[in-house]
Amino acid sequence: MSSKSLPSTVRVRFAPSPTGQIHIGNIRAAIFNWLFARHHGGKFLLRIEDTDRERSTPEAVQGLLDALEWLGLDYDEPPVYQTDEFPRHLEAVETLLARGHAYRGTKGEGGEVVFFRMPGEDMIFEDAVKGRLEKKAKDLPDFVILRSNGTPVFHLANVVDDITMGITHVIRGDDHVENTFRHIALFRALGATVPHYAHLPMIVNAQGKPYSKRDGAAFVGEFREKGYLPEALFNYLALLGWSPGGDREILTRKEMIALFDFAQVQSSPAQMDVRKLDWMNAEYIRRMPFELFVERFQAAMEKGGVFSDPPDPAYLRRVAALMQVRTHHFPDLPAMAGFFFREDFAWDEKTVRKRLLKPGIPDLVRKYRNVLTTLPRFEASFLEEALQATANVQGVPAADLIHAVRVAVSGLGVGPGLFEMLETLGRARVLARLEVALQRYGMAGEEGAKEHGAS
Ligand code: GLU
Repeated sequence: MSSKSLPSTVRVRFAPSPTGQIHIGNIRAAIFNWLFARHHGGKFLLRIEDTDRERSTPEAVQGLLDALEWLGLDYDEPPVYQTDEFPRHLEAVETLLARGHAYRGTKGEGGEVVFFRMPGEDMIFEDAVKGRLEKKAKDLPDFVILRSNGTPVFHLANVVDDITMGITHVIRGDDHVENTFRHIALFRALGATVPHYAHLPMIVNAQGKPYSKRDGAAFVGEFREKGYLPEALFNYLALLGWSPGGDREILTRKEMIALFDFAQVQSSPAQMDVRKLDWMNAEYIRRMPFELFVERFQAAMEKGGVFSDPPDPAYLRRVAALMQVRTHHFPDLPAMAGFFFREDFAWDEKTVRKRLLKPGIPDLVRKYRNVLTTLPRFEASFLEEALQATANVQGVPAADLIHAVRVAVSGLGVGPGLFEMLETLGRARVLARLEVALQRYGMAGEEGAKEHGAS
């Protein structure tokens, strides 16, 4: 499975059991299959292993198809539904019985079942990720392939479908490593070519335990809801266990396709690091075409109920330009940037206490406000110069005034650069807000500060 060119007949498949929401570990298997197929100009197929009739609901199947579409994991042939293959599974059982590779027997009280006869020899296979794997004959007992109720077990259905679909490479989670010995024996007994195997290490949490929903978002749908971009999640999951080399982390899909190779897929567990995913998501947002960002920005603000009136398009764009470089998740935007559009923004009281309610500070803000009323041009460089001058005259660090003004006009302790923010808000808004803040928190000057218990 090296990148040396393989025949263009590479056929791989993603074979999920749609039994609920789709876990990121599972979708990562889809991503690796997809990259491998695209790298080799082969086919990426989808097989829905829906034989668990209780849990494979139409909603679960739809959720799966939606997740694939959202991530851009397109498949090259119509999906195969495992339940439709039932007649072939039974046919294979008959073939195995006829060839002496299977026999009827009983299991417990359960009535008659069909057993597969293991070859009775030690087995070895070469895994593209894990290397050489072997098992002794005594650890490979015969196993049931057809239940007493006439339904095939997973191993049989899985192998028969892979044969029907002409699968050349099986790429899946390493929870299936142990099954592979049985599967190889089944392929051989059915007279089929054994595919190549690559078993992906599982995704673990910070403690090295399997990553589950107790560790945070674990399902594709949750990441989607939290505002992650599909491109960012794809990139992050592709690099979870695979290293394209050279410290590269942000790659286009084209680059990932060109570089993908099992030689650089690690065999140790891959640790989920949400902070890195968050960084990557922010990176993708930062690199988004501006027009697209404006659209998504507006949608996020609308969703957050920020606008009472339709925003002025030019103003919206100016705010968007300030926010693009500092957005980690779209759903965070209403709280981060709502103040640009509403006067009734929330005050972060802790920041107010820390930055505004300090002896002398309201007075200083008042002085700056007075300067702003006559500032010749309400532009960032003028605003900055004026602030420096005001602070200097009072012998106060400029940073103190910057922090105070920021919270006074936005209610927040963090945000875009202050002077650009003021310029964007415009003189009328800024003067009005400073006045409101001073009325609210600082009109009484030093006395007010003491009453608020500033330290
Ligand atoms: N339905 C199985 C799973 O989701 C398929 C495993 C395979 O890829 O062969 O684990």
